[in-house]
Amino acid sequence: ESVAPSNFLRTIIDDDLKSGKHGSIVTRFPPEPNGYLHIGHAKSICLNFGLARDFGGRCHLRFDDTNPAKEDREYIESIKESVRWLGFDWGEHLYYASDYFQQLYDWAEYLIQQGKAYVEDLSAEEIRAHRGTLTEPGKESPFRNRSVEENLTLFRAMKRGDFPEGSRVLRARIDMSSPNLNLRDPVLYRIIHAPHPHVGDSWRIYPMYDFAHGQSDAIEGITHSICTLEFEDHKPLYEWFLDNLPVPARPRQYEFARLNLTYTVMSKRKLNELVTQRIVGGWDDPRLPTLMGLRRRGYTPASIRAFCERIGVGRGDSWIDMSVLEECLREDLNERAPRVMGVLKPLKVVIDNYPEGQVEEFEAANHPQKPEMGSRTVSFSRELFIEQDDFMQEPSKGFFRMAPGKEVRLRYAYIVRCTGVVSDDNGVVTEVHCQYDPASRGGTAADGRKIKGTIHWVSAPHAVAAEVRLFDYLFNDANPDRGGVDYKQFLNPDSVEILTNCKLEASLATAGSDTQVQFERLGYFRTDSGDSRPGRLVFNRSVTLKDTRAK
Ligand code: ATP
Ligand code: MG
Ligand code: MG
Repeated sequence: ESVAPSNFLRTIIDDDLKSGKHGSIVTRFPPEPNGYLHIGHAKSICLNFGLARDFGGRCHLRFDDTNPAKEDREYIESIKESVRWLGFDWGEHLYYASDYFQQLYDWAEYLIQQGKAYVEDLSAEEIRAHRGTLTEPGKESPFRNRSVEENLTLFRAMKRGDFPEGSRVLRARIDMSSPNLNLRDPVLYRIIHAPHPHVGDSWRIYPMYDFAHGQSDAIEGITHSICTLEFEDHKPLYEWFLDNLPVPARPRQYEFARLNLTYTVMSKRKLNELVTQRIVGGWDDPRLPTLMGLRRRGYTPASIRAFCERIGVGRGDSWIDMSVLEECLREDLNERAPRVMGVLKPLKVVIDNYPEGQVEEFEAANHPQKPEMGSRTVSFSRELFIEQDDFMQEPSKGFFRMAPGKEVRLRYAYIVRCTGVVSDDNGVVTEVHCQYDPASRGGTAADGRKIKGTIHWVSAPHAVAAEVRLFDYLFNDANPDRGGVDYKQFLNPDSVEILTNCKLEASLATAGSDTQVQFERLGYFRTDSGDSRPGRLVFNRSVTLKDTRAK
């Protein structure tokens, strides 16, 4: 992989190291374990782990697990698996914000002692109403001036579980007229009577994300806390906590633009909805932008890392077209995927002048430009399958494949001339008859005549049966998540096409659970990790050979 292009964060880190502000850098990737990781998270993973790698620092994997109501061990495990799969290693540095709950609690009491936090009895709705708007200052709560003693007593009772969920919160006492709404006495703790996936049932109150994040960064000695731009408005609060608490270090927050990708949705809430409403087959459905889905589809870690490099890191809001991601996969698989022949929609071909029972072996290169990838033999016989689309009874202008009276080259084998067809009662061609030119072995005519078309084929008696799944975008609108409308109205009803009668060359009989190949002329395919078995092969098309969508 090439050296990462520069970006504003690299410049900042370079300066911080040169000036001696930091001896080495520490970054973190901080997912909340409330869903599976998606391609947007990959941007953050590649950025944070990539910076640590390139500047000789380290990157922590930290679970930002402050809301047990939505979090689950299943997600923790899948996140670890996805980060590893992408090719990154946190080494010893696996952390959970929940491991800091006692420290965070102590800091909350500290703020109370300093008169900088209070227990609020107003309801969530009343708090919202008091908060004001961008143009209107907020109103102070009647509970804002409770004594330190009363606040401590109430907060400790909250911690013991004496109050029902939602009845009280702890708020910072900052400034109800701040132009930044985040500073208008933000909530620090809420009561949730739910066990926690990592720390079990030891807590009845849980810190808010904002109260946990910066302090966790400080505890871990994070130097550059890199987040997406939505958190820019939270930065003054991030800094207020660091200024007002006896934290052991002073991390700094930097923001970058999140990845927006066309023809998909990335919010975990919507992905969750697609999964739980069974609109897709699961979190690893090959049509989803989750890392598990992309993996099942056939995306390689290298292709996703290349994509993250290509899109770069900036502060301007931008949309990336799905075709950019697809092109990164194409480029990677073009290098590494062996070529094979497979027929997705078979049409039988009989070569009438080829001796019955005879079989010839042709040597086929596994990669046209890479002799080091070796070769295999493909069997040729009197009965073959070709692609239905490679035959036309009345060929249109420019059609150089199989048609009555015309010659076409069978890849690696012979030139054949179509002599007739067999049709069913509806006039559908069910069988094509040909004569082969025995002097064209290997595909070159002895007399030098030019044959324009070359098609792929599979020997019928040697063919391996398979199911093949072809995918299209899950949505038929470039921006289904634009807001104001239900994104589900843009679901593409034709996002998957299942072909159950495919015929593959015999070398694929032994295809394993992660076989990746190019079916010549058709695209790159991978065995489906969920459903493919020896004797019942299932392939997913990862990507077509060319971007065939109209621009
Ligand atoms: P979602 O909105 O999809 O639920 P999130 O931001 O709530 O995502 P987290 O688990 O908090 O999900 O994300 C972990 C890290 O990944 C955060 O630092 C977040 O900024 C980053 N991240 C999430 N989505 C994107 C994206 N689309 N582009 C870049 N980074 C992202
Ligand atoms: Mg988040
Ligand atoms: Mg979220």
